[in-house]
Amino acid sequence: MIRTKIIAGNWKMNNDFQASIELAEEINTKLKNKDLEHKRIIIAPNFTCLQTLAASKNLNHLEFASQNIHQEISGAYTGEVSAEMVKSIGVNTTIIGHSERKKYFNESAPILKQKVERAIENNLEVIFCFGELLEDRKSKKYFQIIEDQIRSSLFHLNHEYWNKIILAYEPVWAIGTGETASPDQAQEVHKFVRDLIESRYENEVADQLSILYGGSCKPDNAEEIFNSLDVDGGLIGGASLNADDFVKIIDAL
Ligand code: PEP
Repeated sequence: MIRTKIIAGNWKMNNDFQASIELAEEINTKLKNKDLEHKRIIIAPNFTCLQTLAASKNLNHLEFASQNIHQEISGAYTGEVSAEMVKSIGVNTTIIGHSERKKYFNESAPILKQKVERAIENNLEVIFCFGELLEDRKSKKYFQIIEDQIRSSLFHLNHEYWNKIILAYEPVWAIGTGETASPDQAQEVHKFVRDLIESRYENEVADQLSILYGGSCKPDNAEEIFNSLDVDGGLIGGASLNADDFVKIIDAL
């Protein structure tokens, strides 16, 4: 089975409205004449420009995602954005569970489970992030930590919803630090996770699931990471803010 290859760029809280449009246009232009038949390129900009970018007819090589959704359906949650709102502007994908949301906004496993529910109810595809802290890796507890993260937020889903799930392994010690997991470290976890999914669901679910790697992925290390059997692409932070670097990473897939 050929799994979909995906490069997703998480722009985080960077780029104002105009800068976001310019960067998206620059990336899209650089993708012209490239073979993207089996690749999806997804960008998660900030909320202020998500609708404009998603509605743009010029950005034909790009898809757009929100960086977050709120766990409640609607109501008195000042400053928050719901899954329904994201869907209503023609966006079909959301990131859930980024480690920065866990660290700075206290997003716990039950909250992530609720967010996954809201996304699925609204037919939003989920890029679900998981990954261990440095101390979990050093103490060799990372398999258990990762298994718990996935079980607690995703294993309630019926198998038919798994075509809406993309996983992103993001070892927290590698995010924005310049430290990258080695290809062997990435493959070890990706294979472990695919086997875990297979043990809970059918072989087919595990087989079609795209599992991305994220953590200081750059043009000079992307290819060796993407060559691993169970790595189906990348979730890119810092390097997605530079069109040349981002497109080089896409080329490496
Ligand atoms: C991320 O934030 O998802 C990420 C992978 O960041 P960076 O590439 O900057 O490490």
